[in-house]
Amino acid sequence: MCRHLAWTGQPRSLSALLREPENGLLRQSWAPRRMRHGTINADGFGVGWYAPEVRPEPAVYRRATPMWGDATFTSLSGAVTSGCVLAAVRSATAGMPVEESATAPFTSGDVLLSHNGRIRPDVMGQLLAKDPDPLVPESRCDSAVLAALVFSRLARGADLAETIADVVVEAGAADPAARLNLLATDGTTIVGSTWGDTLSYRILATATPGAGTEVASEPGDDDSSWIDVPDRRLIVARDLTVTLRSLT
Ligand code: GLN
Repeated sequence: MCRHLAWTGQPRSLSALLREPENGLLRQSWAPRRMRHGTINADGFGVGWYAPEVRPEPAVYRRATPMWGDATFTSLSGAVTSGCVLAAVRSATAGMPVEESATAPFTSGDVLLSHNGRIRPDVMGQLLAKDPDPLVPESRCDSAVLAALVFSRLARGADLAETIADVVVEAGAADPAARLNLLATDGTTIVGSTWGDTLSYRILATATPGAGTEVASEPGDDDSSWIDVPDRRLIVARDLTVTLRSLT
């Protein structure tokens, strides 16, 4: 299982969000604390962030190598700030390719998406075949296929939160053993699902380090502000408001 994280709020540096927290995404790449499947997340990492003053589409930096070994990312992470960030570290599922195009976040238009989990390859094919106008997945990795399913619906005008809920429920029905923790954002709203793995969130209301909402596979520190999301829920976070609803 991979680990992922999203932030929406006052601009913070990528380093402050991902590298500096004691148990943040950087440390989770070799020492995750709550990962239920797999041990380390060394098969790649990716970060997407928004610069709305420049363009609506996010920038994405992905590598098929561990976050800890990327000196270029270490350098740029201290100088890039954003009010909306989505990042992931990857532990590739057996049989899935290790390549940049299989690494989250996947992106289409102004949306970023990450998947923590797995789904049977034959089911992915079935789900794509059911879509009336599917986008071509970037990779044969299960996460890339799920991203294509979500992006195909969004391209037809569907709502982000409803789409995440629908795709998770439909994929979960087609493969009862699937694990489907998705995390997505359009630059202002974060949408996440719990379906087989861990997820937590916290609302930071103070100016330091910056007001906003963080949603992550696991807490980046031991602060009591983190709240665990129960399984089979949809979380929608916007500004300093979080809503949870059941997916079953
Ligand atoms: N199945 C996805 C992949 O291979 C996600 C893996 C995970 O959550 N560890 O990338």
